[in-house]
Amino acid sequence: MEHDFHGKVVLVTGAGSGIGREAALRFARAGALVYAADLSAKGLEETDALVHGAGGEMRTAVVNVAQEDDVATLLAHIDREQGRLDAAFNNAGITGGTHRIEDYPVEDFDRVVGVNLRSVFLGMKYEIPLLLRQGGTIVNTASVAAITGPAGMSAYAASKHGVQGLTRVAAMENAARGVRVNAIAPGWTETPMVVANSAQNPAFAALASRAIPAKRGAQPGEIADAALWLSSPASSYVHGQLLVIDGGMTIGG
Ligand code: NAD
Repeated sequence: MEHDFHGKVVLVTGAGSGIGREAALRFARAGALVYAADLSAKGLEETDALVHGAGGEMRTAVVNVAQEDDVATLLAHIDREQGRLDAAFNNAGITGGTHRIEDYPVEDFDRVVGVNLRSVFLGMKYEIPLLLRQGGTIVNTASVAAITGPAGMSAYAASKHGVQGLTRVAAMENAARGVRVNAIAPGWTETPMVVANSAQNPAFAALASRAIPAKRGAQPGEIADAALWLSSPASSYVHGQLLVIDGGMTIGG
């Protein structure tokens, strides 16, 4: 579907790779001025080159989304430069290690929850005041781990379940104030990290693709497209939902 984001200011976090990079590119192609935030300056440079190559407009910011000062400074900067924010895609995230709960290092648990969940709280805390001025949207990236319990991934699953909870609360608090809030739940998505893991562990990759009714992983652009739809007027009556995009993986018995 063709979206029109001309005149819109859009923030994408985790824009230095994978799903966030594809979303930044798609928002920019649809006419948005994109603020791309990531911890990785190199990743942002690559995204910037892609966006400018496609004739899009983008500003980059090296930001740790788990740090309140970083997030507050970024939104204050957008406010100073543009005086508005129309859409936010809170997407940065990490997987963390795979350990049973009794072996899961507490500091790793805190780190994963910080990057995946605290970041979404902080993002929305500082985005909502800007979005309220003219109305807008928030899309948060959860995961199929928001509705399942993948063994060994306690921190990741807890953080992504939490993203769904925060999304619902923010949707209820803002539904009558012109700000729509939704989440996406990608399944197995072939971002660079997943492709590299699959190359190292072909048996796991084969198992994963057998478990997916569509018999393939998603391309990052197929996930980004869902974020664009939820950020666009085409989804104007959708509030507080978790849109699962997983090739049918969580539907089968
Ligand atoms: P990715 O690793 O390709 O991209 C994630 C980006 O987030 C990276 O550029 C990284 O530098 C950035 N980032 C990490 N920590 C950060 C921090 N503290 N502050 C700012 N930026 C930070 O991964 P991806 O697959 O594109 O993942 C994007 C989102 O999708 C994540 O929230 C992830 O949990 C979710 N997700 C991915 C999959 C999948 O199969 N790839 C499945 C479900 C959910």
